Parts: sequence; C-alpha cells; structure tokens
Amino acid sequence: MGRWAQLSANELNVLEGVFWAHGPSRDALSSQLEFSKTRANAVVAGLIEQGWLDEVGLRASSGGRRAETLQLHRGLGVLLCADLGATSVEVAVLTPDLQVLARHGESIDVRDGPAVVLSRMRTLMRELLTRGGIKPKQVIAIGVGVPGPVDFASGQLVEPPLMPHWDSYSIRDDLRADYEAPVWVDNDVNLMALGELWRLKRTLPNFLVIKVGTGIGCGVVCHGEVYRGANGSAGDVGHICVDPDGPRCHCGNLGCVETMAAGPAIARAATEASQTGRSAMLAERLNDQGQLTPEDVGHASRAGDAAANGIVQASGALIGQMLASVVNFFNPSHVFLGGGVTRIGPLFLASLRQSVYQRSLALSTRHLEILYSPLGDQSGLVGAGVLAMQEMLRGRGKVLPA
Ligand SMILES: [Zn+2]
Repeated sequence: MGRWAQLSANELNVLEGVFWAHGPSRDALSSQLEFSKTRANAVVAGLIEQGWLDEVGLRASSGGRRAETLQLHRGLGVLLCADLGATSVEVAVLTPDLQVLARHGESIDVRDGPAVVLSRMRTLMRELLTRGGIKPKQVIAIGVGVPGPVDFASGQLVEPPLMPHWDSYSIRDDLRADYEAPVWVDNDVNLMALGELWRLKRTLPNFLVIKVGTGIGCGVVCHGEVYRGANGSAGDVGHICVDPDGPRCHCGNLGCVETMAAGPAIARAATEASQTGRSAMLAERLNDQGQLTPEDVGHASRAGDAAANGIVQASGALIGQMLASVVNFFNPSHVFLGGGVTRIGPLFLASLRQSVYQRSLALSTRHLEILYSPLGDQSGLVGAGVLAMQEMLRGRGKVLPA
C-alpha cells in the first residue's frame, strides 16, 4: 500500500489512462490525456523504471515504425474479485489489466446469511490464490458485487430485499481478516455497468445495463461514470409498479415488475401452466424434477410450447413497460441486457423491445439500441475488477478508514 500512496497525481493519471485504454501506444496515451508528448514520455519512462508499467508486443504499425503498447505491470500483483448473486457466487483472480487468471463459480443461497455465505466465499478466494501460487500479500485490491443496495462509502448493505440478515453487514470488515488490501463493495448491476464501460473504453457516455435474474436491477452510466445517486440506490428499478392490481411483492407493495416478471415469477407461472393442463411439456418436466426453473421455460419455449412462449413474452413485455419509463426519463443510447433470465430465448428480447418502442417517446428511441451485454456472464467479475483497480488509480486506496 505504501507504494501506491507515493504516486503523484500525474502518475496516477497516466496509469488510469493506460488501464482504460487497454494497452495504448505512447502517442495514443499522450493525446488521450492531453499531455504534451515530452511530458507523457517522461512520466511513462519513470513509471516503467519503477515497475508500474510494462512495454509489450509490437502493434501492427502502418509506417513500419515500432509501436509498443503500454500495460500495467503484472508484477504489481493481482485483483481479487467476487460476484455474489442470490443463488450463486463467482470468484476470480485477475491481472491488473483484467485478464482472468483463475475463476470458480458455484451455487449458494444468499438467504443463508453472511456468516455461511462469506465464509464459503473466503475459502474459495483462498483456494484460488493457493492454486495459482499467489500470496495474500500480492493482492492489490478486492472488488465484490452483491445483489442488493449498497451504501458505497461504507461498503455496507442497506436493507437488501433479497438478502435477509445482511442489513448493515460489512463485507469489507470481514475480508480485512484475510487481506491487507482495500475492499470495495457495490451493487452487482453497477459492476456490470462498470465492466461494460471498461470494455467500451468509455466510448459510450450514456447507457443502461439491465440485469434480470432472481431480481431486476439497472446500472446507470451517465457522462462516462456509473451514477449511484445520493445514497447509492440509483437504478433500483425492480420495485417500479407495472400493475397496481398485481400480486404483493416481498417489499410489501403491489405489482412491482420484479415480483411479476423476474425468475421466481416465471417459475411460478410455469408451475401453474403445467398444473392447469396448459403445457404437457412443462408438466412432464415438473413431474421429472419436482420443480421448474426459468431455464425449463426457455427450453419449452424454444421447442414451440405455446404456454411457455406466453410466459416468456409476458415477462419481456412487463420489463419493457418498466424500461420504457426509464428510457423516457434518461434517454440512453444503449441498453445492455444481462442475467440468466434475459437469455431465456429470442421471444424475450423481441417482446421487451416491442414494449419499449411502443411506449417510449420517438426522440428517446430514435437511435436507441437494446442488445445483450457482450461481456455476458463475465461482466460482473470484470466490473468488480474495474472497481478495485479504478479506486486504486484514483488514489483512494490510501484514504480508506483504517
Ligand atoms: Zn417490490
């Protein structure tokens, strides 16, 4: 940590520029930072000498001149990342430029509470490091995504609806027992947004990421930064009402989009369709497995089952209805979709798109693109890595409360 605290503002700017540009040439870096070439070269030379930056490879160059690209030095250490979902946990070890060195995922139930879940997560982290021959001291920073609202400054969860017993829990304190490295915690979909922003090298300044799994969340990128709002709950769209006469949500209100269109609602609708004789295919699966998942509905839908098609379309349409309001309000250029439920089949995306385009203002949808997140199921882990690295490069590693 001492090393990081000694970096000057210029040096941090150069390192941050290299990180976000994924291996720029010196020239590209100096124009991006609006530094003179002489000044950029001097800072870069110093950083190479001190082992912060490395010059690698030869980029295919047009004029036959050597054009090495800069990258953060691998000798700096590793980033340790976790993406905690309602029903799964993924942990990974990443290089400073976010290449995945090792990764492991498994099922958990976040409702088992922090003692059980975090003890498992810490074990998995330790095992990944040991397997890679990496010592805890080599961890630069840790990023953790969680499926609930987080007060970003304290890193604590705030009354997370999907995570009973986690209110005010400090994951940061828990990990301090194992690592000296600073720990940052954020909402999972904010991290997906950060992951996309990094993938795009910040070329899109205003976009949304929608995650649909057990719950529904939205990551907001505004002016090239993840927007967290006054208290960290920006983008908490799962409890927007789409039907005032709808069923009661676990948050206490009626007709929230999450309770009507996310994973558990899809599974419930599928069970009902098989029990009322509307889908022989789903009834057979229910009989075999004892329960139905959104994936089962996706399979049946792709096989042409009419009831499954109806369930998938209804979910897409309701989420599209919510999204139309958000699009009218925020006017993003792109909406990226992620989370298991969004992959339930082509009808989901088609009916979501139709619902958004029907209900949004012409000006806000004229250039709007709604697509799957290109990072796919890696976006949460990559985002956790971006968070950890970005906070270090903004010099915040040294100002965390002890
Ligand atoms: Zn609700």
